[in-house]
Amino acid sequence: MNHVVVVGAGLAGLRSVEALRARGFGGTITLIGEEPHRPYDRPPLSKAVLLGEVDSTTVDSDFDAVGVEVRPGVVATGLREGVLITSSGEVRYDGLVIATGAKPIRLPGGGPQHVLRTIDDALALRALLGPRTRVAVVGAGWIGAEVATAARKKGCEVTVIEAASTPLAAALGPTVGAYTTPWYAEADIKLLLEAKVASVDEGGVTLADGSFVEADVVVSGVGVRPAIDWLRGSGVELGDGVLTDAHLRTTLPGVVAAGDCAAWWSRRFSTRMRVEHWDTALGAPDTAVATLLGEDAVYDPVPYFWSEQFGRMVQYVGHHVGARMLPRGEPSADAKWAVCWLAGPPGDEVLTAILTVDRPRDLVQGRRIIEARHRVDPDRLSDPDTTLRDCVLS
Ligand code: FAD
Repeated sequence: MNHVVVVGAGLAGLRSVEALRARGFGGTITLIGEEPHRPYDRPPLSKAVLLGEVDSTTVDSDFDAVGVEVRPGVVATGLREGVLITSSGEVRYDGLVIATGAKPIRLPGGGPQHVLRTIDDALALRALLGPRTRVAVVGAGWIGAEVATAARKKGCEVTVIEAASTPLAAALGPTVGAYTTPWYAEADIKLLLEAKVASVDEGGVTLADGSFVEADVVVSGVGVRPAIDWLRGSGVELGDGVLTDAHLRTTLPGVVAAGDCAAWWSRRFSTRMRVEHWDTALGAPDTAVATLLGEDAVYDPVPYFWSEQFGRMVQYVGHHVGARMLPRGEPSADAKWAVCWLAGPPGDEVLTAILTVDRPRDLVQGRRIIEARHRVDPDRLSDPDTTLRDCVLS
C-alpha cells in the first residue's frame, strides 16, 4: 500500500493520519476536508467558545513532522474502487479512511436559525448572545442543554423547546431524563415540554399547537445525521452511517470508517453501534488504520461521553438498551447522583451502563466493572455510600 487518503479533517481524520505513522506506514498520506480550518476539537464549542473563554480549539499536530498533504476546502463528492471523487478532481488511493462525521439537522421554516457544529457556527452564535437577548433553543438533548447553559450565563432570556416529555429522553429514557428537568427552572430557563416545532419564522418559532415563541436568536439542537450522502451508489453499504464489521472495514475493499459516521458491529454488545461522541473519534481510528494495514484488529470499546450542563459534570459509560435501570441514591433529592443499568437474570446481573452526575469516582470504577463484565450486587449498588468496587460479586 503506497497511498492512503483520509476523508474528513475532524478528530477522527487527524487521529487516523497519526495512527498510520505510529503504526509505521511509510507511504504518502492525503487528508481531505471540506472545512477551511486545521482539525479542531468540537466539545469546547458549546462550552468555552460560546462563553468567550477561548477563540480557537485547534488540535496540536505537526503536519510537517507527520508527513501528510493536507487539503482543506475540498469536498468529497463520490467514490469508486480506488478513486475518490472530489470538488477539485479525482484522487487515486490504495487505502481510504472515511471520517466525514455528522451534519446537524435543520428545522423547517424560512426564519433565521443557527446550528452548532463548526467553529464558525460557534463564533457566529456567540456574537449574538448578550444580556436580555431572547434565545429559543430547540431540543433539550446534550447540545441544547449546553447551549442553554452558556446563553443563560451570558445573561440571555432562554426558552428551551422539547418535543419529548423530558430532557434527554432520547438518550437516557424519560425516567432518567426527568431527573434533569428541575435543572432548567433552577437556572431560570423556561422549558417547554411536549412542544413540537412547526417552523422557524421571522421573530421566533411557531409550535405545532399554533402558539408562537418570540426569539431574537433560534438555535436548532435536534440532532445530527451521519455525513454519508456522498457515498451513495459507491458500493459502500450504508444504513444509519457507514456500515462496518467489527474491524471497521466497509463493504468496499481497502476502505475503512471511523468516528461519528461509522456504524460498527460491536462484539461486546452484539449490536450495531454508532456513537456520536469524542471518545469514539479519538479511539476508533487506531483500529481502522490497523485493519487497513492488514492487521487483525477489533474495535470493541465500552462507549463513553461527558456533558457539562447547568454547572454539573454529567458522564456516561456503557450501553443500556434493554437493561434494567437502578438509581444509586435519590436522583430527585441528591445533588450528586448516579443511575446504573443492569442486564442478566436476577442473582447473576452485570453492570452494563452507568450515568453519573458529579460522581467521577463512580464513573471510573463503573467503567472498569463494565469492561470486565463483573457480576454485581444490586442492593449494594443502590446505596450511594458503598463504593462501586465493593458491589462486585466474586
Ligand atoms: P467531525 O468532527 O464531524 O469531523 C468530520 C469532518 O469531515 C468535518 O470537518 C466535516 O466538515 C468533514 N466532512 C464532512 N463531509 C465531508 C465531505 N464530503 N468531504 C470532505 N470533508 C467532509 N462529545 C463528547 O463526548 N462530549 C462533549 O461534551 C461533546 N460536546 C460537543 C459539542 C459540540 C458543539 C459538538 C458539535 C460535538 C460535541 N461532541 C461531544 C461530539 C464530538 O465532538 C464528536 O463526536 C466528534 O467531533 C466526532 O469527530 P469526527 O471526526 O468523527 O467527525
